[in-house]
Amino acid sequence: MNVSQRSALIKEKATELGFFLCGISKAEFMEEEAKNLENWLNQNHHGEMSYMANHFDKRVDPTILVPGAKSVISLAYNYYSEEEQEDVEAPKISIYAYGKDYHKIVKKKLLSLFEWIKATFGDVDGRVFVDSAPVLERDWAKRSGIGWIGKNTLLINPKKGSYFFLAEIIIDLDLHYDDPITDYCGTCTRCIDACPTEAISPNGYFMDGSKCISYLTIELKDSISTEFSDKMANYMFGCDICQQVCPWNRFSTPHNEEAFLPKAELLSMTKADWYELTIPVFDTLFESSAVKRTKYQGLKRNIEFLKISSKAP
Ligand code: SF4
Ligand code: SF4
Repeated sequence: MNVSQRSALIKEKATELGFFLCGISKAEFMEEEAKNLENWLNQNHHGEMSYMANHFDKRVDPTILVPGAKSVISLAYNYYSEEEQEDVEAPKISIYAYGKDYHKIVKKKLLSLFEWIKATFGDVDGRVFVDSAPVLERDWAKRSGIGWIGKNTLLINPKKGSYFFLAEIIIDLDLHYDDPITDYCGTCTRCIDACPTEAISPNGYFMDGSKCISYLTIELKDSISTEFSDKMANYMFGCDICQQVCPWNRFSTPHNEEAFLPKAELLSMTKADWYELTIPVFDTLFESSAVKRTKYQGLKRNIEFLKISSKAP
């Protein structure tokens, strides 16, 4: 079997497992991306995300991360949902966190694909990654042609939009490599104009992570600075704004992953319910959810911040 046939079979299997995009690139040192990452870190745009600065060598060279690596298989798993929180005034949660923690769900699929590759192609070594710090997953996805990195710094596919999780298998198997695709952002500036905290640079393609609502509500351990009081767009966990306004997301279609469906109790929580959130309610609502990452205290801090901000003159 030649590399093209092998690659086609892997893509077929990925689709069968529920991944809606799959592309392959050569595992090699990422020269340009290494410069960009260094630049971003030097400007301290990672805020308190100190892990971003760790393992620099591994992050820019998959052959250090997985010795003998030949290929990076990039995959995307849809999380788009049209379900909405019923109370329009309730503090908002990014739709990616509606259901069960995607790390576990996507990793299970990824391991199934990896096991199938080993069973089909023999003695293969590699590692799987889902939203894992040592892998520049957006850059790999771009290299493997499953999308371009938009001005909002997210990966966008011209047929699917951007509401998907990325995952990778780095493997010591020779495969056929896909070509990157064109950037179709053109003259659009919708994400830049809509970002409430001006986290996206005026020319796009560069994000000040320390200003992004996702960072402020999930990663930041300190209190949220009052400079963001009127800029949180009522988000208590994550933020979807630069995806909602992106014209390419008109092609998004709802996922069919049962584990990502939101609980009815979550969607029906009113603003008052959130303001009075207790630990037992938090535990019930977010059992097995990525929201658990902030813990009760973190989410409560975010809700309190929104509550105080809404009362400010
Ligand atoms: S997620 Fe929200 S805060 Fe972050 S860059 Fe996008 S619009 Fe701005
Ligand atoms: S909103 Fe416009 S500029 Fe921003 S990522 Fe989408 S297409 Fe690109």
